[in-house]
Amino acid sequence: MEFSASHPFYTHFEKIYGARWPNLFAALMKSEQQVARQNSLSLIEDLQTKKWSVFPQKAELPGCFWIPAGETCQPERNPDELLDVYIMDPASVMVARALDVQAGDRVLDMCAAPGGKSLVMIEALKEEGEIFCNDLSPERRERLKKVIQQYVPRSIRDRVWVTGKDGVQFGLKEPGSFDRVLLDAPCSGERHILENKAAQEEWSPRRTEHLAARQYSLLSAALLAVRSGGRIVYSTCSISPAENDEVVRKLLKKKKDAVKLLEAPLGVGGERTEFGVAYLPDHCGFGPLYFAVIEKS
Ligand code: SAM
Repeated sequence: MEFSASHPFYTHFEKIYGARWPNLFAALMKSEQQVARQNSLSLIEDLQTKKWSVFPQKAELPGCFWIPAGETCQPERNPDELLDVYIMDPASVMVARALDVQAGDRVLDMCAAPGGKSLVMIEALKEEGEIFCNDLSPERRERLKKVIQQYVPRSIRDRVWVTGKDGVQFGLKEPGSFDRVLLDAPCSGERHILENKAAQEEWSPRRTEHLAARQYSLLSAALLAVRSGGRIVYSTCSISPAENDEVVRKLLKKKKDAVKLLEAPLGVGGERTEFGVAYLPDHCGFGPLYFAVIEKS
């Protein structure tokens, strides 16, 4: 797609990323590396029968098969009727795992649809605990329900609740009641903006600021909803520092006695930012994705 270097979107990020920007911009326009993450909740047949089992694996990302460029991978049904793999960005797997969900936890996935990260956390719960997969959008919630049906066995589904609240409500109505909260926040999603002409026309720096204010409200609610000693992962698929480190900076400043920033695991292809880790496609071939890990003191 043609894109003018004088477009405000281009010049905005050129100022932020400097000499790195042309390469980052070019990488955002290309399709990203994906993995086929094996559904460990399903009966596993002999892996040799699976087409994806020939794809390479990396020790740092167990259970994930890296789909080579130009190859495609379609999930297939296992004998138990569940799908065998979920195709996703490797960074999403790392973000969901950074929440460090333990068996028996009470987990909130505040903005969950379509559910790729929820599945990673459902697997981590093992035989106990429960997860609330919440999303404000009714259409996206339908996709989320379908994903859960396709990937999660019936015996576990009664510990997986799909809810449709504004995430902010959890802070007011259920304070201190979760061990873990994932806030994968609504964000600018610049990859999507570059694919979509209408989104490009609507883009402005003010939109980013508006989103950052919303993200901060949701993050404050996540802090209220988690118990003392519990953990929050804040993530976005934005390259805008205003939606990433700046949202975390505001929380650290305003709630300084209530929060402790933990060191985010770097994973495969991550780059440290001031408060978290970013996966940027010019560096690692996937993303963008940013996350920070916060503990409630
Ligand atoms: N975590 C998802 C995954 O890994 O599949 C992707 C989530 S997407 C980045 C952000 C989601 O936030 C969207 O599905 C959107 O409908 C939802 N959302 C937007 N505003 C919300 C709010 N105030 N409360 C809850 N969900 C919201």
